[in-house]
Amino acid sequence: MEYILEISKRERRCGALLFMDLDHFKTLNDSKGHAAGDELLQHVADRLKKVFRAEDVIARLGGDEFVILSGHLEESEELVINQIHSLMLKLRHVLGEPFQVQGETYHLTASIGITTFPGMAESPEELMKQADTAMYKAKEAGRDGCKFYQPQMQEFADARLQIENGLRQAIEADEFELFYQPQVDEFGRILGAEALLRWFKKDDGMVSPAEFIPVAELTGLIVPIGEWVMREGFRQLNQWQKAGVNKDFRLSINISPYQFHQSNFIELVKDLIAETGVSANNVTLEVTEGITIKDMQSIIDKMAQLTALGFKISMDDFGTGYSSLTYLKQLPLSELKIDQSFVRDLHIDKADAEIAATIIAMANNLNLEVVAEGVEEESQLRFLIRNGCEVFQGYYFHRPMPAKDLDELLLGNLVIL
Ligand code: C2E
Ligand code: MG
Ligand code: MG
Repeated sequence: MEYILEISKRERRCGALLFMDLDHFKTLNDSKGHAAGDELLQHVADRLKKVFRAEDVIARLGGDEFVILSGHLEESEELVINQIHSLMLKLRHVLGEPFQVQGETYHLTASIGITTFPGMAESPEELMKQADTAMYKAKEAGRDGCKFYQPQMQEFADARLQIENGLRQAIEADEFELFYQPQVDEFGRILGAEALLRWFKKDDGMVSPAEFIPVAELTGLIVPIGEWVMREGFRQLNQWQKAGVNKDFRLSINISPYQFHQSNFIELVKDLIAETGVSANNVTLEVTEGITIKDMQSIIDKMAQLTALGFKISMDDFGTGYSSLTYLKQLPLSELKIDQSFVRDLHIDKADAEIAATIIAMANNLNLEVVAEGVEEESQLRFLIRNGCEVFQGYYFHRPMPAKDLDELLLGNLVIL
């Protein structure tokens, strides 16, 4: 890199560094073995050679990461950006052709971060850091795309790295705790609770899941964390059951798309159920519309297996994603959760009220249970009840709370029933 940077400086040319990471490569590696993974990497390398020129450096950094260094592009950075854009189109086209690996067909996408020189930086270290940062932005933006480095990205990248480093040892440091938010009927009787993860980071206090779950997803750390959540949630459920909680009491657990798509997910939940002694019939798995970007048939199969084991499957944050109603119809779901953004303003925004009412009507017609999230006010509750919603979750009734606080509520509940 030093050599190329030197030459381009002398010839007054601009260049670019591209950092490419394959999307979901780990899934193939884990399910088909490393030989299959290696074969795919070789095919990818061959295709990269078709897009870039012989004088460009194409290298594999490790794992599924490639870098491409072009040192003699156009004379202005503006022209370079145009040039890179057309290269990206070509690359996308070339990678878009299916791959044959061990007799099977694979489709592949990649996330690419790009930085240019000399404008952005002149040292190899800086450039690598920038391209890597931009690559993460591309992943965050939904993968299968490219992003140019922008200086303000660095701040986000530093914050992300800090969270990532902290997350890596949070399980061992015992910094996680599950809070539980009751789900109730219109009379406030507790039907179940959703487990919500809390991270009490040393020196930093509580970090919101909205901040760390996306990082955990991107880095794959959601897999061990999600396993911890299930084990802990099931253990707690077992305790409540032993203490004599209503036998229909349900525990809802949030499952991230990356976690759901792990090839051993079914085995894992089976093992955890056996290990903790609870019944799958008392557990709801909350997924989001984000899972449907993958091959539909495999999602349906997986959900069907989970349903056969006794789990209920709920579509969380419903209405905020991109899944079509055709997809929805095919999925073996038991429940829809109306996203809180529609509930929040339904007493002031007519459109939100219509959406909430429509989701409830649709759920009822499709024989799905429907839960309204984020109920904070009586007027919202009244509206939802009037429109046929029967289960509620929100600050109006209860905030998420530590297990021992729910203990008391559940015991109180037992007396009433
Ligand atoms: P979610 O699954 O949609 O959870 C509901 C969120 O709404 C929770 O935020 C809850 O505290 C909040 N909430 C509940 N009632 C109200 C209300 O009346 N008003 C308002 N303003 N908010 C309310 P939280 O705990 O911050 O979690 C945020 C998100 O993080 C969750 O959204 C879920 O997507 C994710 N998450 C939390 N725990 C886990 C976990 O164990 N695994 C995974 N994969 N994701 C999790
Ligand atoms: Mg949820
Ligand atoms: Mg939600």
